[in-house]
Amino acid sequence: MARQRLVAGNWKLNGSLSQVEQYCADLKQQLSDASGQSQLLVCPPFVYLQRMQALLEGSGVAVGAQNVADKAGPGAYTGEVSATMLADVGCSHAIIGHSERRHIYGESEEVIAAKFAVTRQAGLTPILCVGETLSERDAEQTEDVLRRQLGTVIAECGVQAFADAIIAYEPVWAIGTGRSASPEQAQAAHAFLRNQIAVEDAIVGNEVRILYGGSVKPDNAASLFGCDDVDGGLIGGASLEAASLLAIAAA
Ligand code: PEP
Repeated sequence: MARQRLVAGNWKLNGSLSQVEQYCADLKQQLSDASGQSQLLVCPPFVYLQRMQALLEGSGVAVGAQNVADKAGPGAYTGEVSATMLADVGCSHAIIGHSERRHIYGESEEVIAAKFAVTRQAGLTPILCVGETLSERDAEQTEDVLRRQLGTVIAECGVQAFADAIIAYEPVWAIGTGRSASPEQAQAAHAFLRNQIAVEDAIVGNEVRILYGGSVKPDNAASLFGCDDVDGGLIGGASLEAASLLAIAAA
């Protein structure tokens, strides 16, 4: 079965209400048959989710969150937003374990696995981010890191949980640096990740979508997305302009 390509934009801590309005208008106006071959998803900050969802209703473009509480709630967890709340405002996906959450906010493997579990329980599709730092790559630990990051979630949630989940391979050294992984590096990591799933369940391994993230731009998307095990991209900086996200989707 062919896996449908997904191109997901991660706005990070960027945007304003007026930018959301302009972006959605541009996106709807410029959506074409070429970009329509890919499923599109945009993940703005929490406060803009509901407005973006309303503006994109009926366009086929999905809206997702960049993070989620590790508790199902309701409860005394000040400042958190639960997966159930995200579903309530029309989100379909949530990014889990982005490297900035792991490295800047200190999220542990266990917290990330809990977020993955509550996201699925709420009926959302988790996008689990994994990836090695530059020093880990230089020390030839890439596979160990990917095995550990993916393995913690498999141990907690079971391999079947990936039947309706997405993995994003995001080498930390490629995020926001302008230095993307080469297609060969991306393919090797994606094939390794797919095999980690496939050894436990061949069908899930074949069907799970694995996105590449890290300095994807309109001019390098085609070579990265052309790899056998790359099923689309998680795009940061280049997703902030609708035209650029669409050019990547059309690549
Ligand atoms: C990201 O934020 O997940 C990302 C991959 O960023 P960038 O595309 O800017 O490298």
